[in-house]
Amino acid sequence: MKKSKIQWTKSTWNPWHGCKKVSPGCKYCYMYRDKERYGQSPTTVLRSKSMFYAPLKLKKGELIFTCSWSDWFIDEADVWREEAWDIIRQTPQHTYQILTKRPERIKEQLPKYFDSLNNVWLGVSIESEEQMGRLEHLKDLPCITFASFEPLIGPINWDTRMDGLKWCIIGGESGNDTGKYQYRKMELDWALHLVDGAKSSGVPCFVKQLGTYQYKQLNLKDRHGGNLEEFPEGFQVRDFPAVYYDKHMAMA
Ligand code: SF4
Repeated sequence: MKKSKIQWTKSTWNPWHGCKKVSPGCKYCYMYRDKERYGQSPTTVLRSKSMFYAPLKLKKGELIFTCSWSDWFIDEADVWREEAWDIIRQTPQHTYQILTKRPERIKEQLPKYFDSLNNVWLGVSIESEEQMGRLEHLKDLPCITFASFEPLIGPINWDTRMDGLKWCIIGGESGNDTGKYQYRKMELDWALHLVDGAKSSGVPCFVKQLGTYQYKQLNLKDRHGGNLEEFPEGFQVRDFPAVYYDKHMAMA
């Protein structure tokens, strides 16, 4: 398990790694960049030899972004998922944040005992209006459900389609001006509309970063636009679902 720099989690767990691009949000995927840096193929999905059982070794409860270098529901991992679900079942002290771009596979890939788990948050990535249909697959799931609007690359209307969400994350893309790993713009209006929508619906919201485009527009110091203190008024929001405070802050 690795400590994470991602602001909305504490650790990452990658029981498998490698993935394939499925939507525009994947265009500049950091896993591709990092794997290429290590001379590995990003599209080969491999079970991790060293990390598969890592959560079992940690007694203290952690908030864990699960599959930050893959997708929990990718079909290549079907052969390993049952055992990975069992690790989740055996470690109720942790909270697993599972974020997917393959939500159409969620319901068929849940274990029979999923209702009895209370340590899983399931979320979908939504980068623009085009992916709003992904929310349908979260309906009626017996767990914390969330949406990650990152990288936010187009305006999204906050409306009744968000009903039932228990958390949301907002973030602009970071990257280079040219080359293979670039950034796309996130307008502040798009993000603010979501922050306000979440607030008026009582959905806890976490603004992770404003992205490289706003770093330049606003002359920020942090090139990801991820320093809360530099956020303009209205954006300084970093909340978690109430269960997080009850479980993890009580343990701290
Ligand atoms: S689903 Fe996630 S890990 Fe897979 S290619 Fe897309 S952004 Fe990368």
